[in-house]
Amino acid sequence: MTELDRSRLAALLEREQMAFVRTHPRSGERFAASEQSLFGGVPMSWMRRWPGGFPVVVARASGARLRDIDGNEYVDLCLGDTGAMAGHGPGPTVRALAEQSTRGLATMLPSEYAAWVGEELARRFGLERWQLTLTATDANRFAIRIARSLTGRPRILVFNHCYHGTVDETLASLDGEGRVVARSGNVGPPVDPAATTRVVEFNDEGALEAALSQGDVACVLAEPAMTNIGIVPPEPGFHDALRRLTREHGALLVIDETHTISAGPGGFTAAHGLDPDMLTIGKAIAGGVPAGALGMRAHLEARALGDADADYVDTGGIGGTLAGNPLSLAAMRATLGEVLTDEAFAHTVPLAARWAEGVRAVVAQAGLAWHVTQLGCRAEYLFRAETPRTGSEAAAARDPLLEDYLHLAALNRGVLLTPFHNMALISPATTEADVDRHTSVIRETVGALVGA
Ligand code: PMP
Repeated sequence: MTELDRSRLAALLEREQMAFVRTHPRSGERFAASEQSLFGGVPMSWMRRWPGGFPVVVARASGARLRDIDGNEYVDLCLGDTGAMAGHGPGPTVRALAEQSTRGLATMLPSEYAAWVGEELARRFGLERWQLTLTATDANRFAIRIARSLTGRPRILVFNHCYHGTVDETLASLDGEGRVVARSGNVGPPVDPAATTRVVEFNDEGALEAALSQGDVACVLAEPAMTNIGIVPPEPGFHDALRRLTREHGALLVIDETHTISAGPGGFTAAHGLDPDMLTIGKAIAGGVPAGALGMRAHLEARALGDADADYVDTGGIGGTLAGNPLSLAAMRATLGEVLTDEAFAHTVPLAARWAEGVRAVVAQAGLAWHVTQLGCRAEYLFRAETPRTGSEAAAARDPLLEDYLHLAALNRGVLLTPFHNMALISPATTEADVDRHTSVIRETVGALVGA
């Protein structure tokens, strides 16, 4: 196997950084100006995560393409880290937004599309009752509250190295001795996460059983395949065990499909016949307009609404003034009805396979011990030879310098990857030529790295 030359890597990264600054002067100026008014110089702090020292400022995003204010054009495989999985500004969504914008934006009342959206979510994911939010984070927060309220139990269980948004209880991880601690860098946790959360490794049935048998877990909140530490797929039988053990020990099962909607129109849940008690989603379902959703079984709705002590209509902790707004509903109606359709996945999933094959060929030719995992229209490479079984295994394979180089070199050659992952997401607007562009870029940049 080829060993990477770290000093060559550092030199290549420096060269890319210089090229980036040279070709993005206006973005650099805007960033400097923004530092005078915006926290960290950006509208949202994670925008600082892009490589190069400052983020490119977007002039226009359309379909699978993006243009910055310096006139650079990109094939966008980041797609707003799933927010634009439907492509930037898909026609039906844009038309629905334009039409709705003349008929009311914030009414605190249902619009005519509300029932359709509920029915469509139920049809896709198989859960009968839905509540809308503005973000996946909020859907997860409410799922946790409802689970606590229904079970009377204090804790939740998550998998090590998960990410479910900025939900306090989920910003927990395991330390070297297997104790629950605040996730590294956790900003101002309200309480010690060990008081609210149990953490086990993904695919570890024994640890899951031991944690659930403590009898204090209200719900397990899980992505069906982990996607936020690289992709960690479930091993055969793991989901059966998860379902059986949660039932046996009286914990609810909440499946977070925010990223795994990539697996198909009904997410991983429909594709693999999962049977969760609740399901959460956000990001892609309204074509980039803020919207999230929380689905649950009808018998849980009956219990929740039958609880006289739980206030679901005023200030009981489930809320969001703009949640379920008519603009989000119109966007969901159009995006789910006309954009993220069965036909769209028939286009995007094979293209993700093509992307994965392209990367595999480059990796094999370079003799590198990396592997590529595909999850529907999402695919990702990790710097280890085998598919990881756990979040910790995936985390151990991370290489920030190498990631920065590959991401920045791709960006400088007109391809955007999500800064948090070595991930490509394929939209209905993405073409074979876009995918092949990435393959030729990674061939060039990996070639430079291994001296080919
Ligand atoms: N769940 C998962 C699985 C996610 O990956 C994310 C965000 N990356 C969220 C929830 C939270 O989404 P948002 O930040 O849009 O609330």
